[in-house]
Amino acid sequence: MLRTHACGEVSEKEVGQTITLCGWVDTLRVSGKISFLLLRDRTGIIQIFLDKTLTEKYQHELKKESVVLVEGLVNKRPDNQVKREEKTGSIEIAGKGIELLSAAETPLPIDVVAETTTNIDKRLDYRFLDVRREKVKNIFMIRSKVYSKTVEFFDKAGFVAIQSPRLTASGVESGAEEFKIPYFGKTASLAQSPQVYKQMFVVSGLEKVYDIGPIFRAEKSHTTRHLTEFIGIDMEMGFIQDENDVMTVVEEYLKFLLAELKRVCKEELEHLGVTINVPKTIPKMTLTEARTILKDHGKILPDNEDLDAEGERIIGEHVKKRHNCDFVFMLEYPWAKRPFYHMRPEGNKKITKSFDLLFNGVEIATGAQREHRLEILEAQAKEKDIDFSKMTFYRDIFRYGCPPHGGIGMGLDRITQRLLNLDNIREAILLPRDPERLTP
Ligand code: ATP
Ligand code: MG
Repeated sequence: MLRTHACGEVSEKEVGQTITLCGWVDTLRVSGKISFLLLRDRTGIIQIFLDKTLTEKYQHELKKESVVLVEGLVNKRPDNQVKREEKTGSIEIAGKGIELLSAAETPLPIDVVAETTTNIDKRLDYRFLDVRREKVKNIFMIRSKVYSKTVEFFDKAGFVAIQSPRLTASGVESGAEEFKIPYFGKTASLAQSPQVYKQMFVVSGLEKVYDIGPIFRAEKSHTTRHLTEFIGIDMEMGFIQDENDVMTVVEEYLKFLLAELKRVCKEELEHLGVTINVPKTIPKMTLTEARTILKDHGKILPDNEDLDAEGERIIGEHVKKRHNCDFVFMLEYPWAKRPFYHMRPEGNKKITKSFDLLFNGVEIATGAQREHRLEILEAQAKEKDIDFSKMTFYRDIFRYGCPPHGGIGMGLDRITQRLLNLDNIREAILLPRDPERLTP
């Protein structure tokens, strides 16, 4: 490796040692004949003292964001010089030699500073520079842990990781629009859900599966919660009693995820000013109950409708006040709003055994018990005017021994957004795709 230490990891233990650091020039403060170089890498910022000779040689070369290698001696720093932005505040490096590895052009196309006024579109155009900002970097350090802790949870809970195809014939998930692409004289669709496949591999005998991967939705929506490509966290499990078994796993997952994030992302969360409240239990509310609450807020929700964004927000606030919880499972969604494969309870054809999960007043997941009895599934498809006979390989799943099963689809980007109170889902994904954005 080029370096012996990372900037944020040098401590008083190294005092007296000569070390090599690499990083980006955060700031160069020239003060008369000497200067102070604030060198930054992923782990933090460290101060390097440059004497007259080094200052004269490098003061015009060390443009902000240039990449340099610095060799220097670790010294203890007088207390009165300790700066807050530097993690290694109690030590300083006396620069001995500098090598410019890559000069940055000036001016920079966006501000690489703590607080910027550059708009989000410009920032996304230069996302790799935007991520050099501590706040943005922290979002993605946390998102990375959301991903790895999710894998850890499902793995420990006995789920099998599957990676289902993203190039598909046509999807089963009705509703969302598909991206169509030419495929050797045919037309393929980009998967808008791994629904078919996760059911297929429960039925295959793997019993409990999860699939984390991109999901494509050709929806021309311009909201702060929708992307055309996002990362889905999907799971499906067999031999359930009913949809409550799915909710139990999801509750365990969220408790694990949030507790682990609190533990492993302590510094990043603190820097972003985010407090995580790990739920003890997640309250459940039927849409019928929600209708009453919404009515008290002057909002009428008809029987066949599900919650819109405003409805979700009102319910989120209500649950926070009432139960001091950031999450709520919403139950009994109307059949009119759910896909044909959601199971309906005995004796009530108007609702489904499905649920949504809200996090701080926004949907982050939809789940359900699936209909596994072929005759009923066929009848349900017919009710929705779907030609089930054309869905041969989906239909086959139910023909050769299919356990009662259910599952959920969550959004990794949505979870990260809600967790960190980001005002736009685009802040939670490195390179968002939306109807206007296909680059970089
Ligand atoms: P919404 O009502 O917010 O449009 P949906 O009900 O259409 O979402 P589902 O089909 O239930 O979405 O997908 C499961 C989960 O995937 C959602 O709860 C959400 O977390 C995430 N998700 C769905 N669509 C998008 C999208 N366009 N962009 C980002 N995440 C999404
Ligand atoms: Mg949904």
